[in-house]
Amino acid sequence: MPGPTHVKLNTGAQMPILGLGTWKSEPGKVSAAVKKAIDVGYKHVDGAYVYLNEKEVGEGVHAKINEGVVKREDLFIVSKLWCTFHKKSQVIGACKKTLSDLNLDYLDLYLVHWPTGFQAGDALFPSDEEGLVIPDDTHFLETWEGMEELVDAGLVKAIGISNFNHEQIEQLLNKPGLKYKPAVNQIECHPYLIQKKLIDYCQSKGIAVTAYSPLGSPDRPWAKPEDPSLLDETKIKEIAAKHKKTTAQVLIRFHIQRNVIVIPKSVTPARIEENFQVFDFQLSPEEMEIIYSFDRNWRVCALSTARKHKDYPFIAEY
Ligand code: NDP
Repeated sequence: MPGPTHVKLNTGAQMPILGLGTWKSEPGKVSAAVKKAIDVGYKHVDGAYVYLNEKEVGEGVHAKINEGVVKREDLFIVSKLWCTFHKKSQVIGACKKTLSDLNLDYLDLYLVHWPTGFQAGDALFPSDEEGLVIPDDTHFLETWEGMEELVDAGLVKAIGISNFNHEQIEQLLNKPGLKYKPAVNQIECHPYLIQKKLIDYCQSKGIAVTAYSPLGSPDRPWAKPEDPSLLDETKIKEIAAKHKKTTAQVLIRFHIQRNVIVIPKSVTPARIEENFQVFDFQLSPEEMEIIYSFDRNWRVCALSTARKHKDYPFIAEY
């Protein structure tokens, strides 16, 4: 099997390099997807409170634990703190809600989903009359203290961040009294958004990187017909054909060869299986270069309704 199967975190834990994504996986479909994934060898599931399906993700996980297919300690379960819970005092309640929905005692990794705090309340995306998100008055350094408490309380094994730019990470690493460094930064990454500088920066600081939307998120709700489509790129299709692999498998393999964790989403059994068959081939340096050449700073998740937020991450170069 060429290439790594795990990435070692700065906590010492081994994180499976491939996981199942669950954003947009409908509650009625996600339990079956998680069960299928565990059956074919996935050990890592990526979820979030805001995906509104954690109960069903948990049902899938427990079905396989109860069948004896896998043990809890062999799984790596990830969730994320939503932006409306950024006040330090809210963090523990939000994490406990996720644990209770998943019916688990602990998470392997809990991420601050975005650096931006939103007005607390029932609305997940509280917005003003212009459609812009309503911020709260927190800063992510405060939120981080709440995250650190979760480790000390034994609710999570590791904590990390998502969608943070390198200036924000630097601020976090320089925080006076910092107790735990982030273990992971989960960011959008695929051939249209290579993220070379941010990945180099994170890895140089001992922060592992997870790539989200690795297939370009074709089911993103705001997709437009004129948008570019990774799965239809001729040159990537040609690379796949050469290896007798699918385009999706090449798009996934690309991250593994950068030591980047990758979390393709699918609710289709055959694709869940296909997406895991990526440990039996190797892309050549020339093929990696071809894939890098698609870089065009194109984002699936720009969170543009938060573009005026003081902590909006995508103004910085990286
Ligand atoms: P992906 O790039 O993983 O694409 C998912 C889409 O690709 C679905 O429509 C799926 O269809 C389809 N697909 C999956 N496998 C194949 C295949 N082999 N061939 C053809 N089509 C395929 O998009 P996501 O945006 O969902 O990203 C992955 C995960 O990353 C998320 O689910 C989530 O867990 C995480 N994420 C995190 C974010 C963050 O802010 N931290 C933001 C966005 C994503 P189908 O399901 O119908 O099979």
